[in-house]
Amino acid sequence: MRVLKFGGSSVKDAESINKVVAIVKKALKKDKTIVTVSALGGTTDSLIDIVNSAASHKPAYKDKISALEKRHIDTAKDLLGAAQQKATIKEINNKFKELASICEGVYLLQELSPRTLDSVVSYGELLSSLIISAKFTAAKVSNKWVDSREVIRTNSDFGAAIVDNRNTTKAVKAFVKTNKSKLAIMPGFIAANEKGITTTLGRGGSDYTAALVAAAVGAKELEIWTDVSGMMTADPRLVANVKVISTISYQEAMELSHFGAKVIYPPTIQPVMDKNIPIRIKNTFSPEDEGTQIVKDAKGANNNVRGISTIGKITLLSIEGSGMVGVPGISKRVFGTLSSKNVNIVLITQASSEHSICVAIDDKNAAKAKAALDEEFAYELSIHKINPTIVEKGLSIIAVVGENMKNHTGISGKMFKALGRNGVNIRAIAQGSSEKNISTVIKTEDVKKAVNVIHEDFFETAYKQVNLFIAGCGNVGSKLIEQLHTQASSILDNQNIELRVIGIANSKRVLIDEHGINLNNWQAKLKKAKLMNTQEYVDFIISKNVRNSVFVDITAHEVTANVYGDLLKKSVSVVACNKIACSSDYSKYKQLQDYAREFNAGFLYETNVGAALPVIGTLKDVVSSGDKVTRIEAVLSGTLNYVFNEYDTTKSFAEVVKIAQDEGYTEPDPRLDLGGTDVMRKILILARDAGHKLELKDIKNNTFMPAACMKGSVADFYKATAKHEGHFKKLYDDAAKKDCILKVVATLKNGKASVGLEHIDKKHDMYHLYGKDNIVLFYTNRYSEQPLVVKGAGAGADVTASGIFADIMRAARG
Ligand code: ADP
Ligand code: ASP
Ligand code: MG
Repeated sequence: MRVLKFGGSSVKDAESINKVVAIVKKALKKDKTIVTVSALGGTTDSLIDIVNSAASHKPAYKDKISALEKRHIDTAKDLLGAAQQKATIKEINNKFKELASICEGVYLLQELSPRTLDSVVSYGELLSSLIISAKFTAAKVSNKWVDSREVIRTNSDFGAAIVDNRNTTKAVKAFVKTNKSKLAIMPGFIAANEKGITTTLGRGGSDYTAALVAAAVGAKELEIWTDVSGMMTADPRLVANVKVISTISYQEAMELSHFGAKVIYPPTIQPVMDKNIPIRIKNTFSPEDEGTQIVKDAKGANNNVRGISTIGKITLLSIEGSGMVGVPGISKRVFGTLSSKNVNIVLITQASSEHSICVAIDDKNAAKAKAALDEEFAYELSIHKINPTIVEKGLSIIAVVGENMKNHTGISGKMFKALGRNGVNIRAIAQGSSEKNISTVIKTEDVKKAVNVIHEDFFETAYKQVNLFIAGCGNVGSKLIEQLHTQASSILDNQNIELRVIGIANSKRVLIDEHGINLNNWQAKLKKAKLMNTQEYVDFIISKNVRNSVFVDITAHEVTANVYGDLLKKSVSVVACNKIACSSDYSKYKQLQDYAREFNAGFLYETNVGAALPVIGTLKDVVSSGDKVTRIEAVLSGTLNYVFNEYDTTKSFAEVVKIAQDEGYTEPDPRLDLGGTDVMRKILILARDAGHKLELKDIKNNTFMPAACMKGSVADFYKATAKHEGHFKKLYDDAAKKDCILKVVATLKNGKASVGLEHIDKKHDMYHLYGKDNIVLFYTNRYSEQPLVVKGAGAGADVTASGIFADIMRAARG
């Protein structure tokens, strides 16, 4: 005997029902078959809506009944030839007449009991099974329609009745014995109590009907046909890259379904598990797919975590107070009270201090649970030994499930790390000693992100998605976007990281595509994009709450530097090319470092010093490995290095600076480079990263620029500099006399930093430093004789962009 169940999604319309017929015909070639069906997809919800409208005395319920009737008649017409339609349509009309009169009673009385509700929703399955049975007859497949209410016996807990297994088994067996037909069609979900009054098995209960039948007849396998190709590693509506679980144990399937994997109704598993009957989940719309097999032992699976699931609409109740410590019986009273009010507890945690007990329940029970608990502990409350019950709504549970998690270390660590890295706060945690399930309570708004990051970490070793929000798209920003555009696919192929640019902002507009901007022609799209200021952009990033978010600041603005804190606090990583944040007040620099640590976000600013050269990374490695930096000597301005490399007095100093400016090597006002501020900011950042609490004003700037050159406009600057050529020539000649060249050197020594022009002789590491190159010499306890030297191109849009790119990749790897 084979037992097949088709869910609402598989019988939603005539087209799907035709697929069902084809599948059942195939099964019939092998063995006798019992088919259980749900209501046409969405019908149960419609019926509930209709009867609720009637109960609230809204006459519109009648139109809703007509619409539902029309849907059923249309389906029958689509399925059946003209000759066969008549009888079926008549039956449908009759059923709807009965339904209408029940609803009229509800409308008049304005009262709806659970018993009446069950009788109303039973019409969904009654109708679908009648139509499907007629379709088989029309297709010349003789079949017997069985009224499930005559075989599935329950108690009188309307809404989700408890099955009387003994009598159900007896009735199913008796039916099978007398049934001659090769095919039997049964409505799922509906049953009856001992008086024959209609009951139901709870939402999604058609799966359960099929399992009861399969267990009673000792079927070889129970087939659950639905609209997905099996049980997935997570809810496919939440996670794009879910995978089908090919084999899973009963226990695991039970845990996953209890925790929200809707694909199978949890009570379904018990009856077939008791008989060791495997369940197979199959896709009606893709019948060739293997699907999922649910069996006793799911060996051979290499993943310790089998799946992730979530339940929404959770409320957390916390009972706290000094009067609870060491007092036996408190938890008994908590659970007893909740049980007496029929409140199901989904999860429990109690800290070992016994100072609080925390239980997760369904939102809809929150008010009555709080009232009952406060009443139970009224005395303790009056003497302030226990506080009023704290109620927190808007929560969800996310659970990772797997039998092999047992005795494997590091699983919860991995789960919590993924959540922490993405700023998901955990409100409560529970892990049973069976170690099959680790559950955490989090805010509902974080669920999508949380499931996705956990899924990525456990199932997508092959894949990680990183979402970039770029601010600033001048010279360097454009280069970065170009590099992202050309590199993205090879990074996905070789490093399994999908880099998606979600936002690109200039100072006025932000181009946004939540699914990733197509970077072809982004400039034109940005011109037409929405007007948005920095704060609005940041609010958008925070509200989107997507996983692995990285904010990339390629501006030179203070307003952008000022938003890092807000982003880091939401665990959005920050990659800054902008030097302002790290070189303004020390307290601000420190705060950002603290936020990054506290909220597990990356704060990366390698390009603040020496463009893409690994200066900051090297310094951080030196410090974190326990070494101590004793001295830093560095040429940190590509512009100044260029100017002094070129200046040999054959052209005037002013002319050399003008050439540098025309080449785009200087700031629009060259004095920003020549005056030393830029170099001061850079040595300040290095000093701070080396552990010194310095401010910009603490840095000594021995400027080589005559004060007269620093006044007025850029034109004035050139005039004054030309006038002072003698001063610059003397600087050059003094050095040349000693066989030296000139370099603007930044130094950190004994916790003091300075910047100034120095004579560099041939033996010095800095002597052979050409073009716009930078060099940094680190003297440390370990590198005390010979410094650790980082040297190379220290400026240029292309290299700077590649440095930012490297920081993005560091942030991406977490
Ligand atoms: P049916 O109508 O066949 O009873 P359901 O809607 O009750 O189907 O269950 C199937 C749906 O369950 C799928 O369409 C899918 O969206 C949802 N679902 C949730 N979690 C999972 C999961 N882990 N694996 C597969 N499907 C899941
Ligand atoms: N029709 C019922 C429901 O929607 C039962 C089922 O489909 O399994 O809950
Ligand atoms: Mg279902």
